[in-house]
Amino acid sequence: MTHQDDQHDVTEPASEPPSGGGLTLVATPIGNLGDLSPRAVAALKAADAVLCEDTRVTAPLLAREGVGATLLALHDHNEIGTTPRLVERMRQGQKLALVSDAGMPLLSDPGFRLVGAAIAAGLPITAIPGPNAALTALILSGLPPNPHYFHGFLPTRDGQRASELARLRAAERAGLTATLIFYEAPHRLGECLAALAEAFGDRPAAVARELTKRFEEVRRGPLPALAAHYATHAARGEIVVLVGPAPEEAPDTGAALDAALRTAMAGMSLRDAAASVAEATGLPRKQVYARALALSAGTRDG
Ligand code: SAM
Repeated sequence: MTHQDDQHDVTEPASEPPSGGGLTLVATPIGNLGDLSPRAVAALKAADAVLCEDTRVTAPLLAREGVGATLLALHDHNEIGTTPRLVERMRQGQKLALVSDAGMPLLSDPGFRLVGAAIAAGLPITAIPGPNAALTALILSGLPPNPHYFHGFLPTRDGQRASELARLRAAERAGLTATLIFYEAPHRLGECLAALAEAFGDRPAAVARELTKRFEEVRRGPLPALAAHYATHAARGEIVVLVGPAPEEAPDTGAALDAALRTAMAGMSLRDAAASVAEATGLPRKQVYARALALSAGTRDG
C-alpha cells in the first residue's frame, strides 16, 4: 500500500467516493450478439457487480464473454428500494455496471433513478454506448431522421392510448414536426397502428421488426395501409413503429383566433387588430399578423 493509499483510507471525507467507485451504463445487443462491443466487455469484466433486469437474460451473455462478475437484479419493482444500497456500494469504492435485457439501459428500461442518485451523490458515471432499437429503426425507416421524438411504449388501454396520441397531436399543432418513434409488442401492433392512423391520418410510416436478427424486416407505407396489413397479418418478434412528421400546418388557425381577428378587424386597422388580438391571446404578434393578412386576403382554407 502506498503512502497515498494509506492517507486515502484515513482521510477520505465521507462525501467523496473512494477512487474507483462509480457507475458504468453498458449497452448490450438488441438481438445480434456480435454487436456487444469490446469496450462493453471490458467494462463488464472490470465491474465488481453487474446490475441487470433479468439474471436469466444477462447470465448467459456474461458467461459467453467469460465475465465472472456478480449479478444483481435491478428492475422497475425494486429500483427505488435498492438504489440507496447501490449508491453506498459505489461510495465504498465498488464499480457497478448497469445493463438491461437489450440495448441501451434507461431507454424504456430501468436505471433512471439510479443514475439520478449517482449524480446527486457526486459519483463518477460513464456510458458505453451501443445498440438501440429506436435509432436503428429510425435510420432504416426512410423517414426524416431529424428532428425525431422517441416516445417508447404507448399505454396499452385504448382510452389512455387515445389521450396520449391526442396530446401528441396537440404538440404538433403547436409546432412539433418530428418523426415519432414508438415501441410496441407484437400482439398489440394491429390495434396500435389503427389508433395511430386514427390520430395521424395518411402519414408515411414504418414498422421495423427483429432488427439485427435473422428475420429483420422494415415495412414502409402510409399508416392506413400498414394498419390494414397488420390487421390481417399477425406480427412476430420485437417491433418499432415510426410515424413521419406532421405536414407543415398553418400557424394556429383555430376558430377562436379567427373570430377574434374578424371582430377586431371590423373596428380597426389590420395592424392594430393583430396587435390587440396578439396581446389578448398571448400568441406571437407575427403569427397573428400573418393570420390577419390571410383572413383579409380571403385566403382562408375551407
Ligand atoms: N433499451 C432497449 C433499446 O435500447 O432499444 C429497448 C428496451 S424495451 C423494454 C424493448 C422494446 O424495444 C421491444 O418491445 C421492441 O419494441 C424494441 N426492440 C428491442 N429489440 C428490438 C429489435 N431487435 N427489433 C425491433 N425492436 C426491438
